[in-house]
Amino acid sequence: MASQTVFVTGATGFIAKHIVLQLLNAGYRVRGSVRSPGRASEVRDAILPHLTDRQGLDDRLQFAALDLTEDAGWQEALEGSDALMHTASPFPMVQPDDEEKVIRPAVDGALRALRAAQAAGIGRVVKTSSVVAMVGTDLPAGRAAYTEADWTDTERAGTTAYAKSKTLAERAAWDFVNTEAPEIDLTTINPALVLGAPLDENYGTSIELVERMLRAKDPMIPRVGFGVVDVRDVARAHVRALQRDESRGKRIIASDRFMWMHEMAEIIKAAHPDRKVVTRRAPNSIVRFLGLFDKAIASIVPELGQRREIANDRARELLDFDFIPAGDSVRAAADWLIRNREL
Ligand code: NDP
Repeated sequence: MASQTVFVTGATGFIAKHIVLQLLNAGYRVRGSVRSPGRASEVRDAILPHLTDRQGLDDRLQFAALDLTEDAGWQEALEGSDALMHTASPFPMVQPDDEEKVIRPAVDGALRALRAAQAAGIGRVVKTSSVVAMVGTDLPAGRAAYTEADWTDTERAGTTAYAKSKTLAERAAWDFVNTEAPEIDLTTINPALVLGAPLDENYGTSIELVERMLRAKDPMIPRVGFGVVDVRDVARAHVRALQRDESRGKRIIASDRFMWMHEMAEIIKAAHPDRKVVTRRAPNSIVRFLGLFDKAIASIVPELGQRREIANDRARELLDFDFIPAGDSVRAAADWLIRNREL
């Protein structure tokens, strides 16, 4: 409905900026949360060139300062909104020594957002979860791909702090609406690795993977891979979920297809043959050895050689989706970085 106001937490985020843009272009009013009020203009500037209508923007796009770890301001900020999109959550490149630093803001922040929504009488919530809340478990025998029925086992060895944070936050959200807030209709969007063109240079952890390849930082590419999805599709999934009753009460995977990292590197190399992009594959034994000394490398060791297929049928059916091909998303991220970051 064109006159609805949607509250978007973490508006400074890579994905959230695309969500804010698509909501405004679809005729919604948006209130975005930022940690510091000074960054409201960053969000505004990032989306401005892509708006179909710039008239009355200061009225249609407003901001509130909120922190996932603090109670202050949440209820007042959400008052008057019709729906909540909760995207804010820490997404660190390197896992912290103390995993609670990632888990607490994710879990407590999700509950703060939901409690404030309930107090404000908001009945519709779309939360950004992740496929990492699904794929950290063995596939049931006979099934070739992970689906929305799967949940990551947070006790499993090798589960990163980030994966725990996303799993526990999503579980807390479902538990809360099931037990304390049945009047709230929740949908989670569970994206795979999100690539595509960012709207500004604060593009977060997933695009850093492509940046790393363009900087030829690593002498070889480890045999790891991910489901890949375009940021425009992730934003579209949030907006469509809001618009379609069939998505209420559902987890929805957003992923085009699985891609090995060396395939990403080959796509970038083919698009930019003049650049030095490493495509040589690292033997698993070398990566395991380096993981003994480097925490970032250690965190990918459990993923070596794992081809985790993820089913996207639900998004195709419920949200009427054709995903942007993963290769296009890799190219779009690389093209943007080359044009805007002087790499
Ligand atoms: P970003 O790092 O770009 O965005 C994260 C957002 O969360 C930022 O707005 C950040 O604010 C905010 N945030 C973090 N900690 C706090 C806090 N304590 N209080 C308030 N806000 C906070 O990441 P993405 O856009 O990539 O991720 C957005 C969401 O999508 C996250 O929930 C992430 O887990 C999920 N996701 C991302 C994927 C990806 O590949 N990018 C894949 C699957 C899920 P600030 O700018 O101030 O740091």
